[in-house]
Amino acid sequence: MNNQQKCPVCEGAAILSAPPLPSDVWSGPVFLSVRCDECDGFRIEEGFLAHGWNDVPAADKQAIAAYLKATKGKSGWVRDIDSESWEDMARRGGEKLG
Ligand SMILES: [Zn+2]
Repeated sequence: MNNQQKCPVCEGAAILSAPPLPSDVWSGPVFLSVRCDECDGFRIEEGFLAHGWNDVPAADKQAIAAYLKATKGKSGWVRDIDSESWEDMARRGGEKLG
């Protein structure tokens, strides 16, 4: 099931979809897949999106958007956002990937 929603990073139109996990046996973090025209494909942890993401400063979200755009289509870059990875992604995006 796909829902047309807003991209949590750039707030553009995006499709968020949950992985097809058997929720009755899986208790680890669940990463939602996001398909965004601007940011391309990335994932964001469901619990972090619900609790914590709102506290990330707008400037850092812009930096993460810059990071995602700059690493679009490139391998070897983290594209999973969670409570630990976002700061590094924002720093790298703010530095324009050094
Ligand atoms: Zn986006």
